[in-house]
Amino acid sequence: MHTQKKISKTPYYNGDGKLRPLPKVKRNGTSVVPMMYVQDNLDKENFQLRETLNNMMHGVVMFDSKGRIVVCNNRYIEMYELSEELVKPGCTLLNLMKHRKATGYFAGDVRKYCKQIFDTIKRGQASSHHITTTDGRTINIVHNPLASGGWVVTHEDVTWQKQAEAQIVHMAHHDILTDLPNRALFATQLKQALRWVTREEQLAVLFVDLDNFKSINDTLGHPIGDELLKIVADRLRCCIRETDIVARLGGDEFVVVQTKVEQPSDVAVLATRIREAIMAPYDILEHQIIIDTSIGIALSPNDGTDSEQLIRNADMALYGAKASGRGTYRFFEPGMDEKMSARRVLEIDLRKAIVNGEFEVCYQPLVNLERDEISCCEALLRWDHPERGPIAPATFIPVAEESGLIARIGEWVIRTACMDAASWPDEVTLAVNVSPAQFRNQNLVQVVINALSASGLPARRLEIEITEAILMEQTETTLVTLNQLHALGVRIAMDDFGTGYSSLSYLQKFSFDKIKIDSSFINGLSDCEESTAVVRAVAGLAESFHMVTTAEGVETKEQLEIVRALGCTEMQGFLFSAGCSAADIMKMLHQVGKRLAS
Ligand code: C2E
Ligand code: MG
Ligand code: MG
Repeated sequence: MHTQKKISKTPYYNGDGKLRPLPKVKRNGTSVVPMMYVQDNLDKENFQLRETLNNMMHGVVMFDSKGRIVVCNNRYIEMYELSEELVKPGCTLLNLMKHRKATGYFAGDVRKYCKQIFDTIKRGQASSHHITTTDGRTINIVHNPLASGGWVVTHEDVTWQKQAEAQIVHMAHHDILTDLPNRALFATQLKQALRWVTREEQLAVLFVDLDNFKSINDTLGHPIGDELLKIVADRLRCCIRETDIVARLGGDEFVVVQTKVEQPSDVAVLATRIREAIMAPYDILEHQIIIDTSIGIALSPNDGTDSEQLIRNADMALYGAKASGRGTYRFFEPGMDEKMSARRVLEIDLRKAIVNGEFEVCYQPLVNLERDEISCCEALLRWDHPERGPIAPATFIPVAEESGLIARIGEWVIRTACMDAASWPDEVTLAVNVSPAQFRNQNLVQVVINALSASGLPARRLEIEITEAILMEQTETTLVTLNQLHALGVRIAMDDFGTGYSSLSYLQKFSFDKIKIDSSFINGLSDCEESTAVVRAVAGLAESFHMVTTAEGVETKEQLEIVRALGCTEMQGFLFSAGCSAADIMKMLHQVGKRLAS
């Protein structure tokens, strides 16, 4: 420190690497530094300056007041691939810019540009601007005037920063997983699109929600769920036209805006195309996945002219699509609002019902048509609402499924029914309905095991009724659960057969113990040849697979005789008995009256 302070006031020489005051000699009574040392020192300073300039990341050029290069570093030459012969001290700005234009690194008017620079420098003003080179780099150029009348220009390659900035802006507006526009960008895009809506053309907002996506995440894991979402995004992109919009609002919610809609049927066509695209099988990490989708549609201007209202109404229509059994599309209708709030009220009441114990299980007997004896009783849930009175399962089960409450309710049904059935005669089995939502819940097998062990009911006396919807959703994991239940000794019945999609194909996927033919076919037996053909075919098929065939909803003797003649081996229906309380079924089972024929 001490030495530095001392030499900072005097010229110094550091030729040997050490800082020390320059040697001085006495001349005419004053001490001066000899010229040889001064020259030597200047050379060294020039050298250091050049080294510094040439090692800078920026391109630097210094001009004198006449616009001639005083100094210019290598970086500048490299940046624009300039000729070292031409670009050197003395070269004028005009010639330099002409050269840059010739090498393709300047696109503007050379004279105009030079004049602009001179004018700014004359005013003593600093200036900066960006240029994009032909090879796609972004250069930030800053002109700084000097006291001498000249100026210094720095050229900084900011390509990387610009790319990073652009990336940040992109990320703020796009969903990272699918790279689709996010909610924020979508809102802006929709507003813009709405401005273009004309008298002749409408605009449609389609809310697309994957059915039961959560269960894929839960059962197969998030990486597979993520992969699925990416593929869904790609498929959606392929469904739309250039002027349309597709965005991801979060989770498994996507939105499509269809522009230039002439009539609602245009939207129906797109909705169908979207559903078909999403329903095509996915092959992800050796998992075959099939997923359906529900779509809610709102049209502008009819269902709203501003983006908020359209989004709200499309969402409401989506809710309607989900409520009507998923896997479908629905257009917004004015009454949907009230329906939705009624559903919400029902959901609140269902929660209360669980706590207050408002549920009861009743049992409907099924009769074996070979022995004419009760072979099984189906547990049917009953809800006696404190104000509204009895509410049908068809009304509240879908709400319970959608809200997830079915898991708790269903578990209660299985436990209660197993307890009741444990005291029935040994040859009578118990059938319990299990909804898709319960199947998605990983612990169904455990719930069954617990119910069986708590009640002491042998597994062979329990029958689980499932619908085709369960097999539709997730064949792979569903089959695992079904096989686990089978392994316990539990029997599996396919309920409401014929109301689903490609019914027969499901029969090959799993060896069901029973097929219950939906009551709609039984209803049609007397006057519909098709129904008769279906019942006969199913009964024949079931026989060859050693399955029981149950005719559901048998109400008349005529129907009974027909189903018997067609080969059904079991019947269920009001003709024999409707659902009864646990106490009544107990009485029925223990009296001789359990026989059908009378
Ligand atoms: P399901 O499993 O097909 O049950 C048979 C339905 O048909 C019952 O209606 C029963 O009362 C009715 N039924 C029986 N015989 C006749 C007849 O001769 N004529 C007519 N018209 N109907 C007859 P319910 O009790 O209203 O149940 C409706 C549906 O609700 C059930 O259809 C089942 O899918 C569901 N469900 C009922 N209880 C439960 C439950 O505990 N859990 C689940 N997940 N679903 C349940
Ligand atoms: Mg059933
Ligand atoms: Mg049924």
